[in-house]
Amino acid sequence: MTHTGKPSYECTVCNKTYTSKGGLKYHERSHTGDRHFSLST
Ligand SMILES: [Zn+2]
Repeated sequence: MTHTGKPSYECTVCNKTYTSKGGLKYHERSHTGDRHFSLST
């Protein structure tokens, strides 16, 4: 994590962090969508 002081939004599924809420919300759709997301990382 960086010391930017900005709020970070963390995905509760894969713990990936985003600096914008919109970015996280868009990302979460890959988990909650109808398509199964392969956790290969
Ligand atoms: Zn995620």
